[in-house]
This record gives sequence, structure tokens and C-alpha cells, in this order.
Amino acid sequence: LTSQLSLYRVLLMGAPGVGKSALARQFMTSEYKGTYETNTPEIIEPERNVNVLLDGKESTLHFLDEEQHPNFEAEDLPIDAYVVIFSVSDSTSYNEALNSIRTLREVYRINKAIILVGNKIDLARQRRVAKHDALKIAKKYDCRYTETSAALNHHVDELLVGILSQIREQVSPS
Ligand code: GDP
Ligand code: MG
Repeated sequence: LTSQLSLYRVLLMGAPGVGKSALARQFMTSEYKGTYETNTPEIIEPERNVNVLLDGKESTLHFLDEEQHPNFEAEDLPIDAYVVIFSVSDSTSYNEALNSIRTLREVYRINKAIILVGNKIDLARQRRVAKHDALKIAKKYDCRYTETSAALNHHVDELLVGILSQIREQVSPS
């Protein structure tokens, strides 16, 4: 018996240094990773895939990095969710994240899931971005907001499962 696994493409966006690579590395070693091998020959970078179990069903998330896909909006394959990351210790990276979200929603008219992520919350004393500001912006642009520390692997599994849950809500809204 073979079951068809759903595969979704997720774009990690954010200024250099916010922790995109660090988050991707943590996703790849997540406890939520499924145990089954996927057989999806069209995906040529298996090391960028994570199988995630949610509600007893497994899906594959394929992670792309904006730095390797600067022209993602012109690519043929669709993107199922956008993860827009900033560092809570860097207000410039926050402003860049806001610009990205605004561009996705208002210029590209994308109505897919967007998750705003404030990373590096372990740097509590260097925090420059208030949680309530980020929440307000997320609400305005119909995004989820979550805070993580890729360094401490804090809330990273929750983010991973949250991405899949958001995608599934879009695919089959209840
Ligand atoms: P990218 O350019 O967005 O891919 O960012 P990287 O993943 O390369 O991270 C940039 C730097 O920030 C590296 O030195 C990481 O170790 C560090 N970093 C990433 N995530 C965190 C975090 O949650 N907390 C702290 N303190 N440092 C982090
Ligand atoms: Mg990187």
C-alpha cells in the first residue's frame, strides 16, 4: 500500500543574518519529522525536505531560501507558504520584513499563508522590536506571528507544525 504524500513549498524570507539558515537546519532535525521516506522524484534537493506529522497525516515541506530564489515570484512552481523572518534584536531587519509582507500582499496580491517570525528571542537584553508591534502588523496583513530562537531550538517545532497547519487551512478551509 502506497499513500500519496502531499508536498508543499515554503519560502524562507528575511534580511541576511536573521537566522534563515539556522531555522532551516533546526527544521531538518525536528522531532516532528515523520519516519517514512518520501518518494518524490521531482524534488531534486531531498536535504531541504522535512516530513511533518500533523493530525495523524504526514506531509512534506520543501524549504526554499529567498537568498537562493530572489526571483521567486517569476518561478513556475507555486509557493504554498511564506515565512518572513526578522531578528528581534535588529529593527532594520524588522522594517525589511514589513516591506516584504506589504509587497507580497499589496503588490503580488498573494493570499497564501504568511507567517511573520521574530527570531533570536534569546537575545532578550538586545531586543529592539516589541512583540505587540509585530502582532499588530501581522494582524493588519492577515499573517500569523510567532517568536523563536533558532540558537536554543525554542518554538522551532511549533513553527514547523504551524506552517503545515496554516497551509492545510488554506488548501481545505473548514
Ligand atoms: P541567514 O543569513 O538569515 O541565513 O542567518 P544565519 O542562519 O546564517 O544566522 C546568522 C547568524 O545569527 C549566525 O551567526 C547564527 O548563529 C546567528 N543566529 C541565528 N539564529 C539565532 C538565534 O536564534 N539566536 C542567536 N543568538 N543567534 C542566532
Ligand atoms: Mg543563510
